[in-house]
Amino acid sequence: MKKYSELSQDELIKEKEVLSNEYKQWQAKGLKLDMSRGKPSVEQLNLSMPIFDILDGKSLMRCMNGVETRNYGCLEGIVEAQHLMSEIMDCQPEQVIVCGNSSLNIMFDTVARGYMFGFGGCTPWCKLEKVKWLCPVPGYDRHFAITQHFGFEMINIPMNDDGPDMDMIEDLVSKDDSIKGIWCVPKYSNPQGIVYSDEVVRRMANLKPAAKDFRIFWDNAYAVHHLYKEKCKILNILHECEEADNPSLVFEFASTSKITFAGGGIAAIACNNANRQELKKTLTVQTIGFDKINMLRHARYFMDVESVDEHMKKHAKILRPKFEMVIKTMERDLGDAGCGTWTSPKGGYFITYEAPKGTASRIVELAKEAGVILTPAGAPFPYHMDPNDSIIRFAPSLPPLEELEQAADIFTVCARIAYLEKLIL
Ligand code: PLP
Repeated sequence: MKKYSELSQDELIKEKEVLSNEYKQWQAKGLKLDMSRGKPSVEQLNLSMPIFDILDGKSLMRCMNGVETRNYGCLEGIVEAQHLMSEIMDCQPEQVIVCGNSSLNIMFDTVARGYMFGFGGCTPWCKLEKVKWLCPVPGYDRHFAITQHFGFEMINIPMNDDGPDMDMIEDLVSKDDSIKGIWCVPKYSNPQGIVYSDEVVRRMANLKPAAKDFRIFWDNAYAVHHLYKEKCKILNILHECEEADNPSLVFEFASTSKITFAGGGIAAIACNNANRQELKKTLTVQTIGFDKINMLRHARYFMDVESVDEHMKKHAKILRPKFEMVIKTMERDLGDAGCGTWTSPKGGYFITYEAPKGTASRIVELAKEAGVILTPAGAPFPYHMDPNDSIIRFAPSLPPLEELEQAADIFTVCARIAYLEKLIL
């Protein structure tokens, strides 16, 4: 099979006819498949059900240090949960504050604190004429939704294979004090599965921003979400920031949403002491304490990082065949045709398909009409604007393998048709 770009117009038209017939056959099946969001499957959620047997009417509800989990108090979270989250986040327990059920919620609150009260004694962002934010792209749509909600101007930063373009970041932050932050998903990034190299982490920690209140939002959402035996490692950003004499530069976030239950786990923020004291001034007004019973359940279920590891292997066993099947289908159907490229992540929740320029929205539209809901084209970009209209985030976790197989087949038919439409004059 020749590349589509090497086919004559007649050959392109013939190929399109064949694929259009296949497409119609899929349409006739009236399928309803949803590939749009990176949710764990029911099978994955079932893995964590024993967590409910951890506490019963007879359980000791006090923590190791005597804190009563059923009562108010303990703003920073119970020690056992601080310990568990510090292992997941690869930092010190005393750097961690365990909050409610969602890291995204903590990120929103952290941006809101910068906006309302300011960081490090600087002017609150709400009082500034302009606030800008760096957004490595493609990235997590809900990050961009937060900074858009606060009215910040978002600046796209291209991603390389080992993390965001550091030359561009260093240049921008050193010159412009209206740039106040950057979104980072340093391990198995959403949506490309990229792992930041040591050099990128070090350069990030060594940034010299013009704004004293510039902060890195280090969303370590997929810290332990390996698909394979080989576990990618990243440097500890809090440590690197200390080494670089930049200890207040970073807030790190993580949760157990994709370890136990999405929306029913525990979430945490980690930072240095100065940031922590500032954070607590607001937190102490916001709440008397988060859900310590859920923290206790989690901490007793996962006694140490090895038990988290064992648990994540079970997730990987369910997820790996799904990822591999989608990638194989893309290789089989799109490889020879030279129709786009795709990532083969070693962890995380997404595969990114980079379609030929100007075809992503059309692929999503075609897929929808054949019963497959994909994440809208443009979603992984600020303002939903993909300058090349080429990135599609594929989320293989939720559907059962058989449904995913159908969705992947339909997807590659749509991708080829959209490309052929472009090539046929
Ligand atoms: N951060 C990233 C990069 C994600 O992909 C997700 C969910 O998809 C979240 C955060 C949401 O985390 P949480 O459930 O802890 O709010």
